[in-house]
Amino acid sequence: MILTDELLEFIEEEHLCPHCNTRMTPCHTPPLHVGDGLGWGSPVFMICLNNDCSLYKKSWQEFEERYGHVASCRYMLLPGADKGEPIMVASCDAYTGCIIDVEEERRRNQRRQKEKEAVAALDTCVADGNLAPVMLLILDENAKVEHRERACSLLDRINDIACVDPIRNHVFRHTEIGQLANMAVDRILKAHNLKECPHCAELVKAKASVCKHCGRDL
Ligand SMILES: [Zn+2]
Ligand SMILES: [Zn+2]
Repeated sequence: MILTDELLEFIEEEHLCPHCNTRMTPCHTPPLHVGDGLGWGSPVFMICLNNDCSLYKKSWQEFEERYGHVASCRYMLLPGADKGEPIMVASCDAYTGCIIDVEEERRRNQRRQKEKEAVAALDTCVADGNLAPVMLLILDENAKVEHRERACSLLDRINDIACVDPIRNHVFRHTEIGQLANMAVDRILKAHNLKECPHCAELVKAKASVCKHCGRDL
């Protein structure tokens, strides 16, 4: 589930529970059970998980007296709502498994945004001699495979040896992308009349018989 910027802002804002004045916690809405009716209408909500909250504390007794079963209420707020409402909970642990790691969500969104910008830049990267978006996609293991494949296919045309080290040093989780990228590096080295020293991995002229970096025979 990818959150929109609006939802991220909502869960990052400070929302105070009116019953205890404590900062509420952002949660993912749990998956629906069949027959749950209308559902949540939002992938996230805020909830007061304070065990000393007056609403939560007094509701145990109310449920017991009115309905004769063990439950309580916590205060919850949906995005876009003017005010929150009580939500039934059967234990103090309810919803604690749905708490959102806001930092993690923010990072995920930023990564996705960068991927989007890089994909858009692929159209002009050859004309611009711009290696950056191509490398961003090739080295991003979370980017879409089709975008990474396309990025690999553009390496030869950009023909910039700056791609050599990052690709050689990257551990590709996606084996095929790793092969495509490394094969392109082989071709780019050849096009520049270069090779890699097998001893120190530095680039040397294809015809060199001694490495100018480590001094060993090639
Ligand atoms: Zn509260
Ligand atoms: Zn060497």
